[in-house]
Parts: sequence; structure tokens; C-alpha cells
Amino acid sequence: MKKIDHLGIAVRDLQQSVKFYKENLGLELLGYEEVKEQMVKVAMFKCGESRIELLEATSENSPIFKFIEKKGPGLHHTAIRVNDLEKELIKLEEKGVRLIDSKPRIGAGGHKIAFVHPKSTGGVLLELMEE
Ligand code: ZN
Repeated sequence: MKKIDHLGIAVRDLQQSVKFYKENLGLELLGYEEVKEQMVKVAMFKCGESRIELLEATSENSPIFKFIEKKGPGLHHTAIRVNDLEKELIKLEEKGVRLIDSKPRIGAGGHKIAFVHPKSTGGVLLELMEE
């Protein structure tokens, strides 16, 4: 586990949120991306050595849409960067940690990612990612 790579924030209106992070907080917008598999549009900001990822659902079937329906907009996940994702997943599984993805999949930026269930982490959805 190397560092907190980014915080994922579920938003209702990406353009409006981008405006806030850019103009009011003065953060640098790194770019936009659509992740079809997760049905989200993403805007990524640089924040020191970490990043902030804004997520807007593109479909009612998107996990982000369901999250906002249930909890409202807000912090959706914390992402930690790891050296070897597959090895970490095996290690966690051996320790009885509840994983959402037992195998890596491809997330924003083409990175290998996997989610750990909030039940195991104290209520926070945890994304592990490998660069
Ligand atoms: Zn993320």
C-alpha cells in the first residue's frame, strides 16, 4: 500500500461540481473520461500528491446513480495505490477480508482496480489500484 491515490466523490451534476473544484478551490483539472463499464463520467483533479475524482452517473443502472439515490451525493470511495494488485487481493482474501472484486478489472485511466467491501473497512468503500 503506497499512498492515497484519490478520493472518489459522487456528484449529481459534473459540470457544476467541476466549476466548484476549479474556480473556488483552484485545483487543476487533469481531464475527463467516460468509464462505460461503470456507467460514469469522471473528472479528475490534481490535489497535491493525490487526486480528487468526481463521478457522475450516465445511466440509472450505474452504481453511482444507486449510491446517490440511497445516500445523496458525497464521498463514494477512497483509493489506495498498491504495487501489485493481484498479490494484495490474494493476501486480503486469505485474511478473510470481504472483497467486491476478487480479480482486478480496468477502471478510469486504464488502471487495474478492485474494490474492497465497506463491511470490512469500517464503512468506507475502498478502491485498490495499480499504476
Ligand atoms: Zn476511484
